[in-house]
Order: sequence, then C-alpha cells, then structure tokens
Amino acid sequence: MASGKIGVSTQNLFPIIKKFLYSDHDIFLREIVSNAVDATQKLKVLASAGEFKGETAGLKVMVKADKAAGTLTVSDNGIGMTQEEVEKYINQIAFSGAEEFLEKHKDDAATIIGHFGLGFYSAFMVSDKVEIVTKSYKEGAQAVRWIGEGDTEYTLENAEKAERGTDIIMHIADEEKDFLEDSKVQELLTKYCKFLPVEIVFGKKKEWKDGKYEETGEDNIINDTNPLWTRKPADLKEEDYQKFYRELYPMSQDPLFHIHLNVDYPFNLTGILYFPKIDNKFEIQKNKIQLYCNQVYVSDSVEGIVPEYLTLLHGVIDSPDIPLNVSRSYLQSDRNVKKISSHITKKVADSLTDIFKNSREDYEKKWDDLKIFIQYGMLTDEKFAERANNIVLLKNTEGKYFTLEEYENLVSANQTDKDKNVVYLYATDVQEQYTYIQAAKERGYDVLVMDGQLDTHFINHLEQKQTNRRFLRVDSDVIDKLIAKDDVKKTSWSDAEQDEMRDVFNAQLPTEGGMYIVNFESLGENADPVVITRSEFMRRMKEMAAMNPGMGFYGAMNDQFTLVVNTDHKLVKGVLEDERKAMADKLQPIDAELKDIESKKAEIDALNKDKKEEEIPQVDKDRKQEYSDKLENLRKQKQSLLQEYSKGNRIVGQLIDLALLANGLLKGEALNRFVKRSVDLIK
Ligand code: ADP
Repeated sequence: MASGKIGVSTQNLFPIIKKFLYSDHDIFLREIVSNAVDATQKLKVLASAGEFKGETAGLKVMVKADKAAGTLTVSDNGIGMTQEEVEKYINQIAFSGAEEFLEKHKDDAATIIGHFGLGFYSAFMVSDKVEIVTKSYKEGAQAVRWIGEGDTEYTLENAEKAERGTDIIMHIADEEKDFLEDSKVQELLTKYCKFLPVEIVFGKKKEWKDGKYEETGEDNIINDTNPLWTRKPADLKEEDYQKFYRELYPMSQDPLFHIHLNVDYPFNLTGILYFPKIDNKFEIQKNKIQLYCNQVYVSDSVEGIVPEYLTLLHGVIDSPDIPLNVSRSYLQSDRNVKKISSHITKKVADSLTDIFKNSREDYEKKWDDLKIFIQYGMLTDEKFAERANNIVLLKNTEGKYFTLEEYENLVSANQTDKDKNVVYLYATDVQEQYTYIQAAKERGYDVLVMDGQLDTHFINHLEQKQTNRRFLRVDSDVIDKLIAKDDVKKTSWSDAEQDEMRDVFNAQLPTEGGMYIVNFESLGENADPVVITRSEFMRRMKEMAAMNPGMGFYGAMNDQFTLVVNTDHKLVKGVLEDERKAMADKLQPIDAELKDIESKKAEIDALNKDKKEEEIPQVDKDRKQEYSDKLENLRKQKQSLLQEYSKGNRIVGQLIDLALLANGLLKGEALNRFVKRSVDLIK
C-alpha cells in the first residue's frame, strides 16, 4: 500500500472548498455524476477511434444511497483509471500560483472551482472520507483503491474489482446525512442530471400497490439521454416541442412560440427558447431559462448570458463555450459571452420574422401575449429594436393589426396636422374612453389600443424614433384641436362673458380628485356642449412617475383636467342668456364700479408710464394699492353672486356631470346626485 501527500501547494485547499462552497454544496453530486458520464463518453470515443474493442452498449451510471453504511456511491462502467492515472489526475491538483489565486478569489467559490477543476474534490464538501475503486479499460489492468479523508494525505492500494469502471464511494459526514435520503438524492439528480447523455440509474422504479409504494424490477432512470434540443429541428414536430415544454414546466400554459437554437460557429450553442403565455406579473419570475453545459444542468440564472429581455423567456440553453464556473461580473465582460448574447438576439429576431412572414394570421392571434416581450426587447436592446421594427404590431380599436409602416400609410393622409406631424390617436381603455373614440371615428380617424404594461414607454420610444410622429390619447383635447388642421375658430364670447361663465361653471365643478380649468371654445353647434380633456403631457408625466420613483415631483401633482365649454351649443348659449337675464341688474352696479376703478387705476399708470419704480411718488403707489384691493373685493363679490346663482342652475350641473360621466369621473355621491337630478328634469 502506498501513501503520500496530495500535490497541492497549499494546505488550505480543503477548508476553502468546505467553507466557501457551503452555500452551494448540492453541486457535489452534479460534479461526481458528470465525471462518471465523461468516463463513459470517453470510452465511446475510444471505441469509435478503434482503440477500445469491447462492448459499448449498456454504458450507464448507477447511484446508490446506503443508509446503514452511511455511503453514497456513484458507479460507472466507463474508462476507469490505472494507478498512474489516479496519481496523475487525482493527486496532482497542484498548479503554479495556486496559493496566490486562492488568496485573491477566496470569496468567490465558483471561480475557484472553475479555475482548479476541483470537480472531484467537491465530494469533500459533504464527506469525511472518499474512496475511489477503479479499474481501467486497458487490458490486464489492475484495479486500485484510493482513500482520502479531506486533508492532504491519501492512501492508494491494489483492489479487487471484477468490472471495468469506477466507483466513487462517499462516506457522508454526520451533519450532511440528508444526502443519504432517497428523496434528497432523487431531487438533486432530477435537478442536475435530468438530461445527461448517459442513463443515470437510481434504484428501482416504485409503484403504488396495496396502499404503499413498492419497488418494481425496473431501473429508475432519472434522465432523458436524448433531450429535444440535441435533436435536429427537421426531425421534430410541433407536438414534440409542446411536450418538452410541459416536461420543463409542468404547471404552465402552452407556450406561444418556440425557437430552436442550433449554432456551431463561431461557438457552440444549442437550445430551445419558448415565448411563454403569461397571465400575470408573478408568473414571469417563476419559470426560468435553464442553462446547461453539455447536458449538465448548471443554473437557472442566465443573466449576463442572454440579453435582459430574453430572461423572460423559457426553455434551455446548452453551450460548452460559456465559462460556467466563473463569477457573474467576469461573465458579463467575457467577449465570447457577449457574442453569444448578440447572436441569440439575432436568432430570436430572425425566427420571429419568419413566423410573422409565414403565418401572419397566427402571429396576430398571439400578438397580445407576445407584445410585452417584443416591446421590452425593443426598449432595452438597440440591436433588437432595429431587427424587430418590421414585426412589431399596433392594434386598433377594431382589433385590426398593423406593422409600423402599414399604420403610417393608413393614417398619414387624414391624420397629419398643420405642423406636418402625423398624429397617432390611442385609447388606454376602450370602455372608459368610448365617447372620445366615437368622436374620432366620426372624423374618419383611426384609434389604437395602447393598454399594455409597457405601452407608455413604447409610445415614447416610437416618438423618439420618428420625430414627426406624435401620440395623443383621444381624450387629450377636443376633437378639433386633437389633430389641428387649420387655425381653430375662436369663440365669439367676450372676455367679460367668459369670466362670468367661468365663475358659473367653476361653482359646480368637483373639488376633489383633480384640478379643473374652464375653457371656452367654438366647437360647432353639433358637438357636445361640455367636454373634459386631459393634457397628454401631464398625464404621461404622471404615468411615468408612477413607474419611476425618481420622478416624484410629477407623481405628487394633482390630476389636471380641462373643462371645455362649447360656446356654439344651444344649451350653453341658453345658460349665458339666462344668467344675463337673471343677474344683469345685480351685477350692473358692481360692473360699473369695477369699470370706474379700473379706469382710475389706468390713469395713475398712464401718469407714471415712463418712470422707474423708484421714481413713482409714494402717494400714487398707495392709491394704486387701494384700487387693487377694491378691485379684488368687487371681483369676489361678483364671484359669490355668480356662485350663488350657479347653485340653483340645474342645466350647468347636468352639463358638467354628463361630461364627467363620459370620462368615468362621476362616482359615489356625485353620481347619486346626478341620477336624482336627471329624474327631476324629466318629471
Ligand atoms: P475535471 O473533471 O474538471 O478534470 P475532476 O477533479 O473532476 O476535474 O477530475 C479530475 C480527473 O479525474 C478527470 O479529468 C478524469 O481524468 C479523472 N476522473 C474523475 N472521475 C473519474 C471517473 N469516474 N472515471 C474516470 N476518470 C475519472
């Protein structure tokens, strides 16, 4: 029996493995099983090169947990090792500069493992002692047993072993006894080994019989050795992809589309990406793309390898070229990884373009679900935005879909305003904005539906891409001004009339839920008497603020509405006439006084016209102040008279409420009052 020291230039390697890998110690099984798989694969390679003449059918890996003995054993019938090979591959894990490297990366276990290829040694994360019993495929080879106990000592001796291959016998440490439980081992194997290319057998299949699970004679094979992504797309049917999806994510709805990635130059990458159908935000987080390296599961965190928007997709990516056991920051700066990322982007965009071209009907049917991925991609990835520009769709209120180019052609003739902007009208809620949509349609305008989670951002994106394209929500202005063709006709009401009517309308506007400004416009006698609009700019700022806490200033502002009173409408004209009739006598003396004081004030101003502030005599300043105070007082008096008058004017109340109602702004008590008043009016 030989014994010796493992050739590592530091004594501290094992404590480091144990300590820093603790959080992720599950991976030991993946490492040991993949070594076993490699050993069988190597045998196949040797066979095809004519160097191994024996049988290669029946290659497999067996995993056994023996609670009584306290061991977990992974056995393979692969190439095995000779004594020299054990010495070379297992004992010599010395590398130049190891100590220095360990010191530098001691906080990053994954980098350490990756650098040293410590796969086998990860067994010591969970074991007190590890035995290797191995017999090489080479003719007449002597089997050997290696024993290590987690320090730098080992023993190596001849052993009895009938068959070619290797057993790795892990004596599980007391505090890790979990790893002897069938359920735990099954769970780990399912997680990491589900698609390994050689059969992994873990005990026998169990069957439900007579009220309990009983072992059958059949091997419990963990994995699908020939997973879908390794097969040729030409040999596969749509059902195969659907079935594979269900295998990966049993609880999810059928996906929208799949993309089969198959790249062999300038790097190796295979995989299948699915566009999932998601009903709510929470689901997005749940299922993730799984990352494999030669069919060994590595992680479900693909950030840094695929562009951010694609992390929303589902499926698998398998590449031997992605440096897997390194830290995320390293990954993101890796040139290979960047190439892979941009290649995936191209591939995804190309596939979507194919689907769009070949089956537009199907694409449109799925668009509502697909939209969020495409928009997210376009918003976050310049390259993808370029490629997806021809396949991103807009949907109108009639449920028709258009590409950007098609839509521009559709609306540019009729919806270009006098400043040469093409105005895209949209609604965010087809029910709530119904009146406005109708008004736009009556003008022959088209209205888009923009009710998606990312639409606010996407609208900004589209406006930036083409500066003469403007999006306006249908209720952001009165129809004449929404797409202003010529200079709009001005109202015939005098300033004084407008001021009086402003007081009358103001008196009955809601005092909560937003700020209202009253405006008078000449909209034509057939248009609605009163319309409420909401400035596109302010609304968008508020919406952006809601999604972006940094914009708190806009978020905290009140909603702003404009109450547009149509001075051409018969009812509105009637309100003015009635008010004049009822109030003329009362207002006349106030108006006369107002006029008088205004002219006195103007006289003082005229007198001091060319003087600087400091040259104006104090007595003039005082008188001016006195007049200003008086004016303010008189205006207040007038206002309160008009308010008083307005309170009893049911038509004003009704007109305002109808406009609020058309916007879904009439609620609760106000709605109740409206209903009562309406009943009174028809009685
Ligand atoms: P890596 O797999 O990264 O090379 P490991 O520490 O996991 O590092 O393994 C070191 C070497 O030991 C392997 O490259 C292989 O040559 C040999 N080895 C490990 N496990 C087996 C096995 N089950 N059968 C044959 N050789 C093995």
